[in-house]
Formats: sequence, C-alpha cells, structure tokens
Amino acid sequence: MVTTHETDKYVYDFAEGNKDLKDLLGGKGANLAEMTNLGLPVPPGFTITTGACQAYLATGREPDGLAGQIEAHLEALERAMGRRLGDPQDPLLVSVRSGARFSMPGMMETVLNVGLNDRSVVGLARQAGGSDRFAWDSYRRLIQMFGKTVCEVPGEEFEHALDEAKRAKGTHDDLDLDADDLRGLVETYKKIFVKHTGREFPQEPREQLDLAIRAVFESWNAERAILYRRQERIPADLGTAVNVVAMVFGNLGPDSGTGVAFTRDPGSGAQGIYGDYLANAQGEDVVAGIRNTVPLQELERLDKTSYDQLLDIMARLEGHYQDLCDIEFTIERGKLWMLQTRVGKRTAAAAFVIAGQLVDEGLIDLDEALHRVNGAQLAQLMFPRFQLDHEFEAVARGIGASPGAASGAVVFTSARAVELAAEGKSVILVRRETNPDDLNGMIAAQGILTSRGGKTSHAAVVARGMGKTCVSGADGIEVNVPAKRFTVGGRTVSEGDVVSIDGTTGKVYLGEVPVTPSEVVQYFEGSLDPERTDDALVRAVHRIMTHADDRRRLAVRTNADTGADAARARRFGAEGIGLCRTEHMFLGDRRELVERLILAATDAERTDALAALLPLQRQDFVEIFREMAGLPVTVRLIDPPLHEFLPPLEQLAVNVAVAQERGEDVAKEEALLAAVRRMHEENPMLGLRGVRLGLVIPGLFAMQVRAIAEAAVAVTRDGGTACPEIMVPLVGAVQELETVRAEAEKIIAEVVGDSGVEVLIGTMIEVPRAALTAGQIAEAAQFFSFGTNDLTQMGWGFSRDDVEGAFFWRYLELGIFGISPFESIDRDGVGRLIRIAAEEGRAARPGLKLGVCGEHGGDPDSVHFFHEVGLDYVSCSPFRVPVARLEAGRAAIETTGSDSR
Ligand code: ADP
Ligand code: MG
Ligand code: MG
Repeated sequence: MVTTHETDKYVYDFAEGNKDLKDLLGGKGANLAEMTNLGLPVPPGFTITTGACQAYLATGREPDGLAGQIEAHLEALERAMGRRLGDPQDPLLVSVRSGARFSMPGMMETVLNVGLNDRSVVGLARQAGGSDRFAWDSYRRLIQMFGKTVCEVPGEEFEHALDEAKRAKGTHDDLDLDADDLRGLVETYKKIFVKHTGREFPQEPREQLDLAIRAVFESWNAERAILYRRQERIPADLGTAVNVVAMVFGNLGPDSGTGVAFTRDPGSGAQGIYGDYLANAQGEDVVAGIRNTVPLQELERLDKTSYDQLLDIMARLEGHYQDLCDIEFTIERGKLWMLQTRVGKRTAAAAFVIAGQLVDEGLIDLDEALHRVNGAQLAQLMFPRFQLDHEFEAVARGIGASPGAASGAVVFTSARAVELAAEGKSVILVRRETNPDDLNGMIAAQGILTSRGGKTSHAAVVARGMGKTCVSGADGIEVNVPAKRFTVGGRTVSEGDVVSIDGTTGKVYLGEVPVTPSEVVQYFEGSLDPERTDDALVRAVHRIMTHADDRRRLAVRTNADTGADAARARRFGAEGIGLCRTEHMFLGDRRELVERLILAATDAERTDALAALLPLQRQDFVEIFREMAGLPVTVRLIDPPLHEFLPPLEQLAVNVAVAQERGEDVAKEEALLAAVRRMHEENPMLGLRGVRLGLVIPGLFAMQVRAIAEAAVAVTRDGGTACPEIMVPLVGAVQELETVRAEAEKIIAEVVGDSGVEVLIGTMIEVPRAALTAGQIAEAAQFFSFGTNDLTQMGWGFSRDDVEGAFFWRYLELGIFGISPFESIDRDGVGRLIRIAAEEGRAARPGLKLGVCGEHGGDPDSVHFFHEVGLDYVSCSPFRVPVARLEAGRAAIETTGSDSR
C-alpha cells in the first residue's frame, strides 16, 4: 500500500539531483542533474520521481501534492527561460521524457514540443526569426508524438500522411516540405487525432503536459515494457521517473542539428570518436533512421566551435564517470546543448578492453576493472564467431537466444532434421515457433531459427539448456512449413538451402559463413602469448583473469572423465578434478564385461567379471592421476542404474523374437532380456542407483575403490603424486556411507600399505535428506560435494530430462522463476539446503572440505552464491573453468551478489 502525503517531495529541479539518485530520479534524470551540476550546458528542467509514478500506479491517480509541486517547478522553469508555457507570443516548449532506474531502450516514450497549439505556433515562428517552416514542423511533431504516445493513435497513420505529403511534393526528403505543406499536414494530423480519440487535439498546454506525464507513468505497465522487464529481470515495481526539459531546437535550419556519440567505440573498445550527426533535425530523427546521418567527425567541418566543445565535454564526462559514456546532444543555431548521458552499453569484447584501458589511464584500479566485466561476457568471447566480410549481409535479425555460430541446411520439420542429421548433414531447424514435439529435431539440428517468440520462448529455453545455437523471433522471415520454404526480404529459402545463424547477435545470413575460433580460447589454450600479442582483447582478458585469480577464495576444479579432458581443463586453469564420473568406463568394448557382471548367476561368475574390469579401471585412473600431477581428483563411484549399460528393452525383445523365428540359439539373449525386464524401473532416477547399487551388488564398489587405490600407488611408485578422493553418490543416510566406508577403508589400507598415498572418502550431498542430516553424515565423510543437478531435481521434484521441453518455457513466461533452476542455483530453496548442509556439516566436523560439482559450478550467479555460503571450491566443465575463475574473483571483491546489469 502506497501512502502519500502533501509533504512528500515528488519533484526535483535538475540542480537538486545527482548521478547517485537513480532509484529516485531514474537514470536519465539523475544524469541530467549530474551534468547540470558539472556546469555543462543542459537545458533547464525538473524530474518527477519514481515514487510519484509508483503512487500513481498503485492508486490510479496522481498523488496529493504532485500537481502543486509541478506548478511550482514549472514557474521556476518559466522564470529561468523568460518564457511561459502556452504564451501565444513567445511560448516555452518542453519535452516530457521517461527514464527508469535501468535503461529500457525503446520501451517507454517521449513527447517533444509540448506547449504548442494553434496560437503559440505563430509565436514560435516569430521567436525563431520568422521561420514558419520550423514552427509548423515542430507542431506536426507534437501532434504525432502526443497522438501516438499519449492517446494510442496508430503511429502508421501519421507516417502515411507524411509520406503522402512528400509524394504530393514529389520528394523523399522531409526537408523539402515547406511551411505551407507542414501547415496542411498539421490539419491532416488533427483529423487523424479526432478520428481515433473522438476529441480535438488539446489546445491547453498544461493539459498537454499533465496528460503526457500520466502517459509516461502508464507506459511502465505497457505490455512490451512488462515483457522486457521479465526478460531482463528488472523488478516490476520500480516505476519510471518523468523528466520535463525545456526544448532546444535542432530543426531551426542548417546551423542546427542533433546527434548521438560514444566516448569510445562500444563495439571494440578502441579510443576515438564514434557518433552520428544529423543537421536540421529533432532528436528522434537520428534513432528513427528517417534521414541518413553523417559520421560525427563531419561536424568539425560544419561547426568547429561546437565540435571542439563537444569533444571537450566528452573527455570530461569520461573522466568524471570513469567509464565509457554515451551522449545525446543538440545544436541550436551554433549553440551546443547536452540532452542525455549515461554509462554506455558495450559488447563483451569492449567491456574487457575498456576496463583494461581505464586501468592504464589511471582512472580505475584492477578491482574495479574486475567488477566491470562478467562471466557471461567471457563465455560469449569463448564461442567461435562468424568470420564476416563484405560478402555476407544479414537478411534478418531476431533475438540472440542461445549463443554460438551455426550453419546448415534448412529443414522445417523435426523428422526431416533427424533424417538429414543421420546422413551426417548439418541442419538448421526453422519453425515459426517450436513446441515439445520438436525436441528430437532440436537435438539433431546444429541450430534453431524461429520467426516468433522471445528469450523465454520454448525454442530459446530448450536451446540454451542444450547449449545449442538459437535465434528466436526473427520476424523478418515468413515460414511456410507445408511448402517447405521461408521468405525473407523478397527472397525464398527452400529446404536444403544453407543458412547461417549467430546466436549472439541474432543475425541470419544466407549461405555458409566461415567460422573463426575465439582468440580468447586460443589464449587459454596457451597458443596465444598475452605478453606478445597485439590483440588488445587478449591482453585485457589476461590481465583481468590474473587479477581474478589473485583475489578469489574459491578454488576452481573441473568435471573430467578422461586424461584428455583433464589436460584441457588444466590449461584453462582447473586446480583439480571435482567430479570424475566412472560411468563411461563401463561402456564401449567393456559392455560385454558389464553384461557378464549383471547376468552372473553365481558369486564366482560375478567375481570373475569384476576382476576383468579392475585392470581396465585402474588404467583409466592412472592416466587421470598422471595428468593432474598431484592435484586432487574426486572420483565418483558408479552412479547410474546398471540397465543403462544394457541394450534397450524394445530392441532386445525384437532381436530375440526375430532370432527365435529363425530358430537360432538365443539362450544368452533371452537371459539378457530377462535381466533387463527384471531391472526395469518406472522411475530410474529414483531407483536402484548410486550407493544403493553399491550396497546391493557385492564387490562392485570394492573393485572401483581398489582400482583407484592401486592406480594412486602405481603413479606414486613411478615418482608422481596422486591425491584421490573417493566420492559416494546419492547418500541419504549416514548408515549408507558408513557401510561403504568400512569396506573401502579396509581395501585402501591393504593396497596403500606404506606407499604414503592418502585417499579421502567423502560423499555427494544431492538427496534432500542428506542435506538435512548433514550433521550426522559429516561424522562419516571427509568431504562433501554438492551435486546440485540432483539436488535441484529432487528438491523441486522436477525430472530434468522432461521438464525443460514440457513446461519450463511457461514457468519462465509466468515469471515463476526468472531462469531455469538447472541453469542458475535456486537460492531460496535448493540454496537453503546447501546452506544448512554446509553449516551443520562444518559444525560436526570443523574444516570439512566443501565443494560443488553440478553444472551450477560454472554459472556466474551461482558461483557468487557458493562463495557467500563459504564453499572451498566449485567444479564445472572444462570450458566453464575460466568463467568460474573470473566470477569467483568478482565474488571476492563484491560484498553483495553480482550486479552485471
Ligand atoms: P530515449 O530515451 O528514447 O532516447 P529521450 O527522452 O532521450 O528518449 O528523447 C528522445 C529524443 O528527443 C532524443 O534524441 C533526445 O535527445 C530528444 N530530446 C529530448 N528532450 C529534448 C529537448 N528538451 N530538446 C531537444 N531535444 C530533446
Ligand atoms: Mg535518449
Ligand atoms: Mg547425481
């Protein structure tokens, strides 16, 4: 409930605010105030607070006191300008501009030239030295913007009328319209206004102002703004501020104009002058792309004084904000006015490069540089990129829904995707939007392209979950599934034609665009020396990564099952293995041994099978221990249900039936089939797996423990070091762990002897009961490793393999969660289980080593959480190791969670 009082301050003059008041004044208002107080030429004005907006949205009316405060500030503005709003002789005009805490580009609107009416338009012309054209141009802009923004008149109607006027004049350039044409256009616009609103265009300036302010308040809850906030995870209750700014005019003739600029290149980070300028125009023309802008450098020729002043101001702003700024400015008859600035958005590469430059320039220190980049940006820089030259031009652009660069033959159905993929072809699945039936096709495809849907659509969510490139909502393409083709910009692309999609930029290209590997990966791999390269990005990444490593408290390990993976992860900076799965050691040509193990009718047969597996497992571990050279290696004893290592039931049943038909001897197959039937589970995820398997199949865990211990001893005998940590999966009760441990300790003692090898025994915490009884379990465990995938699965009761395709998109759409809990740790629920287990485990066993080995270990936000909870390390897939290192460093220098916006 929002309560308002007469005494609440809802309106701030620009001179009263500053850049740190973004919550109250919005980003635009806070920065206008900051520039004003820096003494820069900002037209005077005032800001109505986000609090006023919140109150309006809560009650449906302007809060008490607001009208009076606006009146007072307006009077002050009129005094400062020496003009009055609505004065027919010499009118003051203002712009009414939205501006929230976080920038929401294009989401909410602005009305320029408020205060014009049928009478003051004449005064404005006189004020401008008799420029009728300018006055009528300003008036028609007001009706257009006011109509569209405040009264929901369809914008196209105005555009059509404008086009029509130009056509009648035989021109494409609105500068060719003279005062009479524009006066005529105003008449047409007014008719359009009446037709759609049922009333005349309001002539009373104060009514225009109040309606515009209200419209800005209401734009906060426009549907597209709501969607945007959900996607960007911007809280829904912030509200927007409203800025009322005295108008300055870029459309007063050739010595006037308007432009935008960046203090550095927001694409690469390079220093220099980047911007666009448009003479004789009002601000919105630049963004709208109505006329062709010229590069900002041209301004030097057109108006050297303003140009020099602008460069000077840009340098000052950079020094002041200590960061890349973007700005909007207008020149009115040779006088420069600043209309906006903010710390500018930039690409991932520019973020690193600029942070490095600012350290060199002494503007910020390395901690600050580390704070200004993030793991998501680093991850982006690690994807291969399209190598674009003039030959390739994007034919459509959608939302970069899941990063990467993918090329392939276009297909329109899941079935066709599967067929062509089976022939070894790369395919891009193109759909209007995907649904759960497309899952197989999405798996088979190299990338997914849809013409509808945003970042939380089915296609986007599922593709991100799979790590597959996806461009969604490319609405420039028209998909025709029955005809097996799509059209884009007048061209037709049929099944089998090759397209390329960029899941980072959202761009779509025809043909196969060649791909270049990431130079950042080359650096991590060791093939690019950061001291020697002239690649500014690599140097910056190296510098910031080194600092992150200095700062972080969390160690970073990797999930790796083979020597090759382990080697790559070490190059990426892994300090050990946090999860070595042993499952794959039961696959391939070892299947036969596993079958023997499962089918064993007697103890002797089973012991035989295990004995045959032992040397193979031992060799696997020897390779990994050697590769990790004394770094800790956590080996998880076998986890999945055994039938996963047998052929699928249906296939086996068919084989047996066919063989029987032919009268072949199928005794062995029948036994296998019977075993598969016996082991069939309705819910294998909750069935006979993990520690349960170890307790049921005698000798299985013992064989693995022996293989680990023997491998460690062998490596040590050869002069190496091995630090194995044996991890028991799926423990829910301390008794399970105690039983396994008693047997394991005996074997270890026997194998290790006096070799000096030390083997730790610990457990995964991945069943909620284990987290809740962590105090007991810690008595028997030398370490905990949180298996956050299963913990999320069992904590929420979500079957991971099913939910993402089935309903997550809907949950995201409804905002039940902002991001899949499998992607980023659910702090409130699953995170609470982790907190409890960490606290109670350490209370029972001080110094208990704690780590995490789910995929969350490489997720930026989750890494911050694990730092906060006090874990010792995170472990993630090799490719995520650099991201985890960076974020662990950031977590260490930040007191609160990551603010990467
Ligand atoms: P957005 O947030 O979409 O950029 P703005 O509120 O910044 O919207 O305004 C849209 C355009 O109008 C910008 O180019 C801006 O520079 C211009 N503009 C805003 N206020 C004024 C003003 N008082 N005088 C001249 N131009 C203005
Ligand atoms: Mg702007
Ligand atoms: Mg698990």
